[in-house]
Amino acid sequence: MAEWYATGKEGKDREEQFEEQRALLASRRGAFWFRLRQGEAAKLTLLDTPDFRFRLHSFKIGERDFPFTCISDIGPCPMCIAGVSVSSVLVGTCINHNSYVAKNGKEYKNQKQLLVLKSTAKKVIDKLTKRQKGDLRFAVLEVERDKDQKSLRTGEIFEFVKKLSEEKVKGFAPTDVDAAEWIKPLDYATEFAPLTEAEMMKIMGGGTTMPPKSVGVSVDEDPFSELDEDNSPGGDDEPSSVQDLI
Ligand SMILES: [Zn+2]
Repeated sequence: MAEWYATGKEGKDREEQFEEQRALLASRRGAFWFRLRQGEAAKLTLLDTPDFRFRLHSFKIGERDFPFTCISDIGPCPMCIAGVSVSSVLVGTCINHNSYVAKNGKEYKNQKQLLVLKSTAKKVIDKLTKRQKGDLRFAVLEVERDKDQKSLRTGEIFEFVKKLSEEKVKGFAPTDVDAAEWIKPLDYATEFAPLTEAEMMKIMGGGTTMPPKSVGVSVDEDPFSELDEDNSPGGDDEPSSVQDLI
């Protein structure tokens, strides 16, 4: 049975593992994800037709779930082997027209965000895409999240409102950036670049025994972190742990 402290080589090894895990998590900070509070609604504009599909693990470290790209298609995936919760996701880029005031008082509006869709939300978007003849670029959607705690963080009700012109969409860009660049979708292969098998093992090495709130990306750095009020992989079709299968 491990102690809560360690000395000598073991102490240094543990410290090194902690630092490596922290650095790996910090390096993963990418674009913000579109998220809604329970019962909240929003309007968004899509910057592409969501068409990037892969599997994403949700791994708990401390009190938060962190997403890790599944690598089972390219080799052994330690998270699959350990039975870590996994969802198949569909990804796109959107402009979130809701405004949020972060803890630091800064207001965020018309922010470019990743739209990471799973289960029902994914099916709804696929259906909308089909109805719009395969093209949802610059489509304005109204989205709603159910009040249920298990509801999807992206919301699961998406309704098509209308399509905007390129000029209109460019008008949402911050004044200090090149609008033509800004309306391009995010680079998903970079945003979700998988860790290597060895890096995944390092992350899992500390696992859920790491002290809460002391690891990884500081919650203060994420102005939308308070939207993450439910830390369970809410609304997921898949069982969240091996215990759920028993
Ligand atoms: Zn996997």
